[in-house]
Amino acid sequence: MTRIIGLTGGIGSGKSTVSQYLAEMGATIIDADKVGHEALTRSDIKQEIVAAFGHEVLGPDGEIDRKKLGPIVFGNPEALAKLNHIMHRRMRKMMEDKLAEYRKQGVPVVVMEAAVLLETDADWDKLVDEIWVTVSPEGVVVKRMKEQRGMTEEQTKARIRAQMSNEEKIKRAHVVISNDGSLDEMKRGVKKAWEKLVDKSAK
Ligand code: ADP
Repeated sequence: MTRIIGLTGGIGSGKSTVSQYLAEMGATIIDADKVGHEALTRSDIKQEIVAAFGHEVLGPDGEIDRKKLGPIVFGNPEALAKLNHIMHRRMRKMMEDKLAEYRKQGVPVVVMEAAVLLETDADWDKLVDEIWVTVSPEGVVVKRMKEQRGMTEEQTKARIRAQMSNEEKIKRAHVVISNDGSLDEMKRGVKKAWEKLVDKSAK
């Protein structure tokens, strides 16, 4: 039986790092960001986005240019909700198709990495067997985002405020990955959770 983990967490909390590590240990990853990029190339979705936001979201190649779409929706909650409404149900269908394929192949563990797993109204959380949440203190995230992505403290804090709080995510979590120390410490925590999962699956 394929077990499906939904991996979520705030900006800079370590989701991608954890999912890379889980992949090294044998998990198959579905990255919601990549599914979103793939969705934007589909003609039905493209048409709806152009209808909603105008031709200015298209690049010279006639494809949706995320660099043009981004500034329209970030900082504008109404526009973002509109985009999410177009995208999230279709992305769910694409993820369901991927999961069905992995089940058919007998893949033991799939990790679905999605920042908005618990926030979207398209019920992505219903696709997973358990929820893992990465958590890092705000000060650490601000420092990481400054160093790794050149974001200011204000930019990072605004992104954090726009997301569901850690407390709420933790309430829903089966596993909390505390990522407030070194990478090695984080890996030890993930390895423990992974071994428990593999044990459970073997029974
Ligand atoms: P998310 O996917 O949740 O936004 P990332 O996994 O991309 O977060 O991590 C954000 C940045 O912080 C990355 O550059 C990553 O390498 C770094 N990072 C994550 N965890 C640690 C850690 N424990 N120690 C040092 N750097 C870390």
